[in-house]
Amino acid sequence: MEEIIEDRLYRFKVRKKNVNSSEANIYFLKKEQILIDAGYESYDDYIRLNKELSNIGFHIEQIQAIIITHHHSDHIGMLQYFPRYIPIIAHPDLNYYISSRNNGDIKNSIPDLGLSTEEEMQIKKHLISFDLSKLGVIKSIQDFRGFRMKNISIFELSGHSSTDIGIILEDLKIAFTGDFLLEKIFFDSIVDIDPRTGQLNRKLKIKFKKNLLMMRKQGFNFLAPGHGDLITTKKNLIDMKLKRLSKYCNRATHLLNTPLELNQIAKKILPGFEKYSLFLQFSEVYLLLELLIQQNKIEKVGGVFKIREQSS
Ligand SMILES: [Zn+2]
Repeated sequence: MEEIIEDRLYRFKVRKKNVNSSEANIYFLKKEQILIDAGYESYDDYIRLNKELSNIGFHIEQIQAIIITHHHSDHIGMLQYFPRYIPIIAHPDLNYYISSRNNGDIKNSIPDLGLSTEEEMQIKKHLISFDLSKLGVIKSIQDFRGFRMKNISIFELSGHSSTDIGIILEDLKIAFTGDFLLEKIFFDSIVDIDPRTGQLNRKLKIKFKKNLLMMRKQGFNFLAPGHGDLITTKKNLIDMKLKRLSKYCNRATHLLNTPLELNQIAKKILPGFEKYSLFLQFSEVYLLLELLIQQNKIEKVGGVFKIREQSS
């Protein structure tokens, strides 16, 4: 376990097996006896985590709570292996996202995206590796709003997924925000479902912008992201994200002087991204277009997106 701040904050890195994916962070707050996030699904990693905790004089049974930043599989994977009496603190909708109902709702919503058969296959392939429903039986989640602990504050943080929360360690002024703020990329999930309606959540990008502005005002100096190293340039990072968002919006609006389908826009805005992940490319661009539709700048007619006709 890597020590980040002397005897206070530790990081445990996990990587998905056989996949060239980025390492996900699990944080351990030693004084508070709290874990933040639970990595990819891997029993071997769970055993490794146990060992590394005992190397720093700590046992897994002593953990007071596991706080989960959001529902994606690289942050909740090991939850099923922890002793059942350890409380899991998270957004209450996490219960929905690890249930089989979520899986069914996702499958029903994919045709709404208006993708080609090949593109749908890509999305489905991604979903198989993201099957969270087997975790549904583990235990119920405790609502983060009811959690009280000295030195820790938790708040809702929407934009990357439907269950994002932010955690601030008050005395060290460190924020843990999962994947809401990553150094190199940001992405939303195209198949994130609104648990109340069972339909695609179309508000992620809209909330992302609002929450970026909210985060800029938060009192923290360091950011401990879900992937990658501790970041000390909060303001620059947030400004960079806001700038990039408006750059993409402008580019999309400009492109849509000619009506285009989603995959055509995706290739133009994020060229080459499909080599990394077609799923993430679609996700980014689809939610960007939803934001522009919400702002009445563009519209979707049939299968194509275009500049909105101004009514006289
Ligand atoms: Zn992640």
